[in-house]
Amino acid sequence: MPLADTHCHLFFESFDEDRAAVIERARAAGVERILTLGVDIPSSAASVEQARQYDGVYAAVGVHPNDAARVWHGESTLAELRALAQTDEVVAIGEIGLDYYRDYTPPDLQRSVFVAQLLLAAELGLPVSIHIRDAVADALTIMSDWTAELRARGNALAAHPGVWHAFGGTEAEAQKAIDAGFLLGIGGPVTFKNARERQQVVAALPLEAMVLETDAPFLAPHPHRGRRNEPAYVRLVAEKIAELHACEVEEVIAVTSQNADKTFGWRDIV
Ligand SMILES: [Zn+2]
Repeated sequence: MPLADTHCHLFFESFDEDRAAVIERARAAGVERILTLGVDIPSSAASVEQARQYDGVYAAVGVHPNDAARVWHGESTLAELRALAQTDEVVAIGEIGLDYYRDYTPPDLQRSVFVAQLLLAAELGLPVSIHIRDAVADALTIMSDWTAELRARGNALAAHPGVWHAFGGTEAEAQKAIDAGFLLGIGGPVTFKNARERQQVVAALPLEAMVLETDAPFLAPHPHRGRRNEPAYVRLVAEKIAELHACEVEEVIAVTSQNADKTFGWRDIV
């Protein structure tokens, strides 16, 4: 069963020297699907280009909350995202969300940019990849309202609306996201030696609620912590989850890859 890395950023310049080799190593490690996400318009366009260039790589386009103040110009930005999102390489809208930890973008602007992109996702029938930092209550309210609206309108996206990426919340927060239809993206931090609480939460969550991710080039799993991360390392995340669930790694891979399949579809790029 092939692995899927449902969240990474191949556009970063730290991959400029060896991007093809990084993707080759992922394939050699059994990672057959890689979702690479933009954080603004140029990086979204680069993500589409890289998905076009490399087999097994798919793109998400979106404006990250920390970049919103710098790059968001309302309707014109939305139109650029819409045009990018309608290419064959794009299977999701992201990375979008709320980040009150950094103060690069005022919270009210973050919320309106987040909602605008959720509405774009609904319009295009594309799932979302969501970043949440120090903003769980607001984000969960917006996410739940959005999927309630999708259900009310009979939008098929309601069944698989997307992923709470780099999930690091409590069991109760996980349950709220799951109730709203979302999957939880589990990555490198679950492998860290000092991550007991996070590990306990992941141990308690059903595999059916999870997808695997790296967030490469960031958040490299143990024993690569502190160095550049890459999609091949998603296997280390699967191995840690198998240990926490006392099951075979193949089961973790099978269930999480199926979850990713249902959400992102991985349609053929022509
Ligand atoms: Zn990310």
